[in-house]
Amino acid sequence: MPEHPILQSDPIAHTRSFPQLTESNEAFWTSGASGNWKLPHCSLCNRYIHPGQPRCPYCLTNTVTPKGVTGLGNVFTYTINRYPWSEGWAVPYVAAVIELDDQPGLRVTSNLTAIDPEEVHIGMRVEVCFVESSGRWVPLFRPAGTGK
Ligand SMILES: [Zn+2]
Repeated sequence: MPEHPILQSDPIAHTRSFPQLTESNEAFWTSGASGNWKLPHCSLCNRYIHPGQPRCPYCLTNTVTPKGVTGLGNVFTYTINRYPWSEGWAVPYVAAVIELDDQPGLRVTSNLTAIDPEEVHIGMRVEVCFVESSGRWVPLFRPAGTGK
């Protein structure tokens, strides 16, 4: 199992809001605490499902349980936010869609950290890292190989 790093503070210093934890999204938001990120996975058709839901949208069974992911992927697309939409937001910051190596089309939306926003590009290799906030372990992404 990969050991995904946990950051000491949130580098994207704006207020985050979170959904209520449910059986379907709990692994996404809390498994980072162990350093091993997990996403919902259908054991029957062997596919990850994100966002999580009780039934597999492919085979319609309820054989969905959390399974570890590599935490590695590519920037699929991104945008740089330069405007502080709310007090306390640190700008600029990058919002990105990451396609994970674990399955074609498995994409998560997150923030990039540990990089100058002007250096971000589509296709760049990234790895997950986590920061704790309000009982959630927020998955963020940084350039792959940034190191522990
Ligand atoms: Zn399935």
